[in-house]
Amino acid sequence: MKTTRRQFMIYSASGLATLSLAQQAQAQALIAETEPQAVALGYKALATAVDKAKFPKYADGQICANCTLYQVKSPEAGGCAVLPGKLVAAAGWCNVYVKKA
Ligand code: SF4
Repeated sequence: MKTTRRQFMIYSASGLATLSLAQQAQAQALIAETEPQAVALGYKALATAVDKAKFPKYADGQICANCTLYQVKSPEAGGCAVLPGKLVAAAGWCNVYVKKA
């Protein structure tokens, strides 16, 4: 069966759309606390789980959602400048926390 130019264009556009969606889904994944970048920053998906002895900088009420580096993506998660390519939990925290002005 011979592929027409029109069919080729449709298949190409479809393939690119699928690839783009797959990349977006991968980029939108929540970072795991066990990932090396997260471990290095002391990231916890739930701020109340932070070990206060290990991270004395942490104070109650500090969460990613009120950190100046947080970029809202949804009510539960957002982007973070120090953990690029993944989402952090709105209720999370890491040792780079800077209170939003
Ligand atoms: S820098 Fe801020 S937004 Fe990013 S993980 Fe740390 S506390 Fe959360």
